[in-house]
Amino acid sequence: MAEKVIVIANSITVGELADTLNLPVTTLVGELFKNGIAATINQRIDAETAQIIVEELGLDVAIEQKQTTGVASTARVSHQVTENAVVRPPIVAVMGHVDHGKTSLLDAILDTKTAEGEAGGITQHISAYQTEKNQRTMTLLDTPGHEAFAALRQHGASLTDVVIIVVAADDGVKPQTIEAIRFARSANAKMIVAINKIDKDTANAQLVKTQLATEYDMNPEEWGGDTIMIEVSAKTGQGIDKLLDMVLLVADLEDLRADIDVPAEGLVIEAHMEQGRGSVVGLLVEHGELRPGQLLVAGTSYGKVRTLSNFLAKPLKVAGPSTPVTVTGFKELPKFGDTFIVAPSEKQARQMVEAARAEREREAAQSNVTGADLLKMMSQKHESQEFKVIVKADVQGSLTSVIDSLKLVETGGEVTLRIIGSGVGNISENDIRLASDEKTIVYGFNVDLPPAVKRLAARDKVQVRIFNVIYQLLDDARQSMSNLLAPEVVETEIGSLTIKGVFRTLKDAAIVGGEVTSGKVVADVMARVKRGDEQLGEVEVTSVQRQQQEAKEVFEGELCGLNLRTEKKLVMNEGDTLEFFTRKLVERSIG
Ligand code: GDP
Repeated sequence: MAEKVIVIANSITVGELADTLNLPVTTLVGELFKNGIAATINQRIDAETAQIIVEELGLDVAIEQKQTTGVASTARVSHQVTENAVVRPPIVAVMGHVDHGKTSLLDAILDTKTAEGEAGGITQHISAYQTEKNQRTMTLLDTPGHEAFAALRQHGASLTDVVIIVVAADDGVKPQTIEAIRFARSANAKMIVAINKIDKDTANAQLVKTQLATEYDMNPEEWGGDTIMIEVSAKTGQGIDKLLDMVLLVADLEDLRADIDVPAEGLVIEAHMEQGRGSVVGLLVEHGELRPGQLLVAGTSYGKVRTLSNFLAKPLKVAGPSTPVTVTGFKELPKFGDTFIVAPSEKQARQMVEAARAEREREAAQSNVTGADLLKMMSQKHESQEFKVIVKADVQGSLTSVIDSLKLVETGGEVTLRIIGSGVGNISENDIRLASDEKTIVYGFNVDLPPAVKRLAARDKVQVRIFNVIYQLLDDARQSMSNLLAPEVVETEIGSLTIKGVFRTLKDAAIVGGEVTSGKVVADVMARVKRGDEQLGEVEVTSVQRQQQEAKEVFEGELCGLNLRTEKKLVMNEGDTLEFFTRKLVERSIG
């Protein structure tokens, strides 16, 4: 359990989050920047983003999303189950590192061949399936990707009951394994570890168990812990039965229930258009019973269920809790992750859609940063950054050891080091030319930089770094590589103003007037509020007025009025100064 739990509604501003965490706003802003998001103190971020940021900061804090209230809740009535609730099938997600066998395991569980034989083939790709074991049903979600999982999580942790973490016995714990564990933990789902590929000669299940136990506090039951770990082979089928038994056992312990005497509701798990059928939408029913002919509202779309079928494309008359279904009949495509609910009448369906639309517009206006955005940016950040070098050393022996050690410098795989050229002897004009063409830096070990070459390097802006101690050279390389990871924050000063009057001070806004004393002021920039040398805080300029008229820019020597957004109530006085600046992210580069 996390030490601290913060419950937020739809989103939280960076400023509020900093306050709650007792951290300087700049720390959070900096962390967001590092992840490619230029945020201001008043920027709203969603729970997902906040969670990622606190985790990156190494804080033991859980951010929970309160079930949405207000308009959005017309589309979803989140309820505690009633006494009449019935036992429902568990919803199971299969996750793990790429190539560890998620798909194969899912196939083995579903025994796809039989399914195909029975239903004349699965005609379309869908992302949820059902299987039976001992006359009991369970629902399996296809390995949801990052974005998908983030969206599902936003709708409450209850969606996934069990996460099967697939770890290949011949490969061990890998980055996506860790991610899967993190997701499962934050979704409050029960975990079962499937140690796969146990049939292989190179399989080492013990190693996987040790890794999980020592690094992730997941101790296998046989060692007195409480993590279920099953050795399986998707290839031979070994252990699959036991795995499914365990899923059912965990489900029994959880006592998973759902109401059926309520209007059906659940989640959109897929949506696409198909020629001849129109909108084809995958839904996962959470409560109630869905039937053809019912009116459905999901997000900003609605429609009458024209056809209802199960994952084998078999028509259904009714679909109860935990059932993945495909429906046609939506007028427009709802979005993945939207909640759906059955509406009593077309009129009400239309009203709900209108309300949801208004809510979306309002949210869009707040320019939320979503977890999906953040994850996308993080993965982009991880794309092939290269640190290119040329290495020169005094003798072959030291050249070899410098090169070998450089190859071992790791930054977690996000930045790779590439040696473009190397050689024995002093740094030459040729080295500088190559470095300039290839945009590399030149490392010298125990060598000289002749004056003519130094001049050439200066002219071509090539960096030459000479060391006599190998670990200093390596430290420098490591540092340069990590600099490549984080984009640089560049602040550009654009002007200043002296406050001549404060017209209004609210909790998170203020209106002031003053004279521009240098440069200019425009809307949508940041400003530091200063009293003498002391900085009182940062504000955002939301609009600028000259003679009561909205103005685009106001220059030095002119008077103007400013609407400011503040992080918290900030009392400004006549005589305080505002220093305007913009903040931009600039990718760092070597050279
Ligand atoms: P995914 O990326 O996690 O979905 O992995 P796949 O299911 O595509 O499997 C990756 C590779 O591992 C494929 O070549 C599979 O045939 C192989 N594989 C999966 N499970 C097993 C297993 O239990 N034993 C062996 N020997 N190979 C397996």
